Amino acid sequence: MKKTFVTSDRVREITGKFPTPYHLYDEKGIRENAARVNEAFSWNAGFKEYFAVKATPNPTIMKILHEEGCGMDCSSLTELMLCERLGITGDDIMFSSNDTPEKDFKYCAKLGGIINLDDITHIDFMERSIGYIPEKISCRYNPGGNFEISNMIMDTPGEAKYGLTKPQMFQAFRLLKEKGAKEFGLHAFLASNTVANEYYPALAAQLFRLAVELRDEIGVHIGFVNLSGGVGIPYRPDQKPVDIYEVGEMVRKAYDQILAQAGMGDVAICTEMGRFMLAPYGCLVTTAIHKKHIHKDYIGLDACACDLMRPAIYGAYHHISVSGKEEAPADHLFDVTGSLCENNDKFAADRWLPDIDIGDHVIIHDTGAHGHSMGYNYNGKLRSAEILLCKNGGFEMIRRAETPEDYFATLDF
Ligand SMILES: *Cc1c(COP(=O)(O)O)cnc(C)c1O
Repeated sequence: MKKTFVTSDRVREITGKFPTPYHLYDEKGIRENAARVNEAFSWNAGFKEYFAVKATPNPTIMKILHEEGCGMDCSSLTELMLCERLGITGDDIMFSSNDTPEKDFKYCAKLGGIINLDDITHIDFMERSIGYIPEKISCRYNPGGNFEISNMIMDTPGEAKYGLTKPQMFQAFRLLKEKGAKEFGLHAFLASNTVANEYYPALAAQLFRLAVELRDEIGVHIGFVNLSGGVGIPYRPDQKPVDIYEVGEMVRKAYDQILAQAGMGDVAICTEMGRFMLAPYGCLVTTAIHKKHIHKDYIGLDACACDLMRPAIYGAYHHISVSGKEEAPADHLFDVTGSLCENNDKFAADRWLPDIDIGDHVIIHDTGAHGHSMGYNYNGKLRSAEILLCKNGGFEMIRRAETPEDYFATLDF
């Protein structure tokens, strides 16, 4: 049985103070998981996880992860500004964006963040934007074709808009070196939300080999290899979680065989995980407000796709439990819906659940990443609050819910 981190007593207590719907985060779980990631890669002296801010751009969460030794992976101006306000600058920022506007490059350069270029033409574009070539620079690699592990297609980089081709990587490193760059990084993101332990090791081996080739042909100093994000979590009850220690160990083997063998044992590994760092440590707490029997049976919640978009746009599975009814038999077939005037606004379709009464607290699991952050205002819906279950046992609001005044704030009306 898949459980979430919060008990029904706690849900009742928190809901007594803050009305549903809200996203709830578990500080203890976040810290323990971050510590495991750091331990799994502790064999690499320069290892750093740069948390993908877009997954959960909340300053309190970012601060917690920064305290655990994480840097921040930003992709936009406002994400950079969040870091600045938290005093996170310099090498603690990785800027992995694409189709990048000039002002974003400028802001990143102002903060001294590490720029990870998404295209060969961005060398000139960046140089024009910021006026120079940073000494430390990274490029994102896209090998094209399919990304396979043991003959299984994991994803299709050939269809992805990101990164530079292999010949472009060589051209780019040559050009950047001529223009004065001194330390180089390589980055690739080749599969999304995979729970295969083999993903990072297979990706790492590809990038390590390319790093050796680039050093040999161009004579550049490779400072770091960035394995990016993509490490998944078991959203479904039958999925096995990633064993991050096993992953760290397999990456170490590839590192020893390829990089250390080539005399490149000083290369730092970095990662940019979002989902793996946060998804299981957040849930969306809602209340059942309607029950409807027509051609199917529906439970209507006080939350909607504006609070959690993944089921509506990707048909993503999120486990659902009913607070206080965890042990009750799942003998009712429901569609669990929000209130948008869109029939895809369903958190689940044909899901076996215990009987749900109006007023029950319905918990949507694993919303800690790409949950609140993908929220939007369609149908005039207002984004929900974010609450932190603190490691000392208390709880606090870390973002208030939007009000109608927020909705009107951009209008002169
Ligand atoms: C989204 C993203 C990440 C994080 O991805 P997860 O799957 O959440 O780990 C990391 N790097 C880049 C460049 C991204 O776009």
